[in-house]
Amino acid sequence: MSRHADRRDRLLRLVPGTGADGLLVTHPANVTYLTGFTGDSSYLLLTPREQIMISDGRYAQQLTEECPDLDAEIRRPGLEMLPMVAKVVDAAKVRNLAIEAASMTVAFCSELSQQLSGVQFTFTGSLVEGLREIKDREEVAQIREAIELAERAFAVVRAGLRPDHTEKQIAHNLEHQIRCFGGTGCSFTPIVGVGPRGALPHARLSDHRVEESDFVLIDWGARGALYVSDLTRVLVTGRISPKLERVYGVVLKAQRAAIAAIRPRAVLKDVDAVARKVIEEAGLGKYFTHGLGHGIGLEIHEGPRLAPSQDRQLKAGMVVTVEPGVYLPQWGGVRIEDDILVTRTGGEVLSHVAKELDDCVLQGMR
Ligand code: ZN
Ligand code: ZN
Repeated sequence: MSRHADRRDRLLRLVPGTGADGLLVTHPANVTYLTGFTGDSSYLLLTPREQIMISDGRYAQQLTEECPDLDAEIRRPGLEMLPMVAKVVDAAKVRNLAIEAASMTVAFCSELSQQLSGVQFTFTGSLVEGLREIKDREEVAQIREAIELAERAFAVVRAGLRPDHTEKQIAHNLEHQIRCFGGTGCSFTPIVGVGPRGALPHARLSDHRVEESDFVLIDWGARGALYVSDLTRVLVTGRISPKLERVYGVVLKAQRAAIAAIRPRAVLKDVDAVARKVIEEAGLGKYFTHGLGHGIGLEIHEGPRLAPSQDRQLKAGMVVTVEPGVYLPQWGGVRIEDDILVTRTGGEVLSHVAKELDDCVLQGMR
């Protein structure tokens, strides 16, 4: 059985627990995860009897190549997705259809339920997302590849960094280098924050130049074939002020402590608390304004979340970011982010960009 067929098999065992006898998968990353199909605008209907891709003519050839073991219903030009879905669900004799509530629009859902008046609908939240949290060996290999792309691109951009480079240029150069090394592109628009702009955890790229401050925060990642990476480093472009040294030291200590706490069965909020405690004890707790980390995979933000509200446990095979940050208004932000694989006995840090403060100093910028 192929990896994708095995995933569909495991998913199908979860469907009866929702009360449904069929599942319509509409979220593109979930479709990719279950089928290997890399296009979009295509849905997957799963029942105990049938596994059908619902797509259009643009993807007919790609579907036979990427998922030869699946039936496909190709809608003809002019036929909308909605009546096609209704037809396929009707023909499959589904009585209670589970749908992915987070990805289907209210308009689509209400229209579909009108066309399928005899079919009950069950809203599911995270059936496929739950499976996706645990990565298999192939997925981990693809994440490693995405990390390597991000790291190689960063090394080139760092080596060529000039005082007059703007946030926008740095982001553009990262994208360019990732593609030069064979990646698909950035896994998200990089966040580049010069000085005080680094205090906005998700600042928009601007024309501020690195020479305007003593340090710059860079949060970037690459997409390899399908999987992504996510890293953050601070680069020191000027002098190391006592304040920067202190804040950086606290954040690095918090990050290392949290990484050391990663192991199977560790409670998510407890790992978050390890980092939070270090930052709180330094009197900076109120400036750590987000959760500690998140899963990565086919998407840049997926489960699990390392955050104060999360009572679930880590499991071997999860890949999470650990990214504590301290953001001081009008001064700047320090965040340090790495990607960690939960192993059977602990955690393996998959990303390797140096992060001692001295390692982050760029020589000859002034
Ligand atoms: Zn990030
Ligand atoms: Zn992140």
